[in-house]
Amino acid sequence: MTTEEFRRHGHDTVDWIADYLENIREYPVLPDTQPGALVDRLPAEAPERGESMDVILEDFEQSIVPGTTHWNHPRFFAYFANSGSHPGILGEMLTAALNGNGMVWKSGPAATELEQVTLGWLRQWLGLPEEFFGIIHDTASVATMHAIAAAREMAEPESRRKGNSGRLVMYISEHANFSVEKAGMTLGLGQDNIRQIPCDEAFRMRVDLLREAMDADRRAGKKPFCVVPTVGTTSTSSIDPVPAIADVAEAFGAWLHVDAAYGGAAAILPELSSILAGAERAHSLVVNPHKWLFTPMDLSALYTREPEIMRRAFSLVPEYVKTAENPRAVNYMEYGVQLGRRFRALKLWFVMRHYGREGTCAIIRSHIEYAQKLASLIRAHPDFEIAAPTPFSLVCFRYRGSDDDNRALLESINASGKAFLSHTVLNGRFVLRLAIGNIATRWEDLEDVWALVKQSAKKTAAAP
Ligand code: PLP
Repeated sequence: MTTEEFRRHGHDTVDWIADYLENIREYPVLPDTQPGALVDRLPAEAPERGESMDVILEDFEQSIVPGTTHWNHPRFFAYFANSGSHPGILGEMLTAALNGNGMVWKSGPAATELEQVTLGWLRQWLGLPEEFFGIIHDTASVATMHAIAAAREMAEPESRRKGNSGRLVMYISEHANFSVEKAGMTLGLGQDNIRQIPCDEAFRMRVDLLREAMDADRRAGKKPFCVVPTVGTTSTSSIDPVPAIADVAEAFGAWLHVDAAYGGAAAILPELSSILAGAERAHSLVVNPHKWLFTPMDLSALYTREPEIMRRAFSLVPEYVKTAENPRAVNYMEYGVQLGRRFRALKLWFVMRHYGREGTCAIIRSHIEYAQKLASLIRAHPDFEIAAPTPFSLVCFRYRGSDDDNRALLESINASGKAFLSHTVLNGRFVLRLAIGNIATRWEDLEDVWALVKQSAKKTAAAP
């Protein structure tokens, strides 16, 4: 491709992106497609001869976009909504252009140091202690796996050479994200050594039961080594009592990892800074800018007060990547599994600078206000009930009917293409989840979806 061709297609592509984001409400949030549709539509073999970019971009519009679930849609309310914001997209474009690989400082000085700078800024916004060292991973799942590996290194330094002893036990709540258990499985802890502590009526980890479980394990010759509370659980956004959990973890000498993948972002708001109370005592914490900080997928920030332990867990430096020692040169590959590392910090830098703390707070605050307003409307309606407290921007609710009625209601809302909600099960009952988190969402979107919910409920109730 010539420079001139690149310039033309680049301009066309940016125009397409700008129009897409401008007109996103015209797209169905969920595509009207079936499994296998794209595989059947596209050729089974790659082209023998190169094709023109015009044709490729045309196919992108005709084949790819119609099969896309639009996470950037302001009425995407499923899972935890996210945002590919304008500055974040520009950052991603430039990351691709630089095509760097920040394995070690020397292979990416700016990438390495911007990671230090942006994670330092974010740490300040979150009110975390200055000694917290930050590292970017792709997802919270992977970040948490690294935290647990560091916890194992602290508890059993010999595991690096000899593998797991089989004695280590980790504690999460029954509402922890499943990625924490998966991380434990990946590290070879064994699912039998991962305790899911029951929660109270507000879906928060029961500290008394945590202490009992750790006591019982210790008496049985096991080694409680890691506790993972969540600030903003996936099902309901509940907040585990981190300060009390920190007391217990400390009493057992266990590593405390706080999963604040979604909820942590809200700590930027001065009025909500207390949600991270106790996190200053954590050994590590994860928060996802790719969830509620308007940074495009993917970017997860892992903080630890024990970078040396994390380094001991992962450092292995073959001759071919050795560089001269310099105390100011961070070699991020030593703190994790990955050798090759994308320049993710650039998009975070763009996003943080473009919106600033004030602008970021204003957007997060509006999402929380919309959620509270919607929760009041639901609470006041005789046919609906709120199914869990709403501390952030996630509303869990039910139609006052059977689980099947609620399942049908969800299907009907999502089939409309006008909004996308997801579900969970709480106390054995099917519950709808509506998570607000997209940067373009306005109160009118919530009014529209609430009207749609009521109308769909009437239709499903009337159905034979
Ligand atoms: N932790 C919590 C509380 C989550 O809600 C999620 C995902 O929604 C995760 C961890 C996993 O995040 P990721 O998709 O970045 O791995």
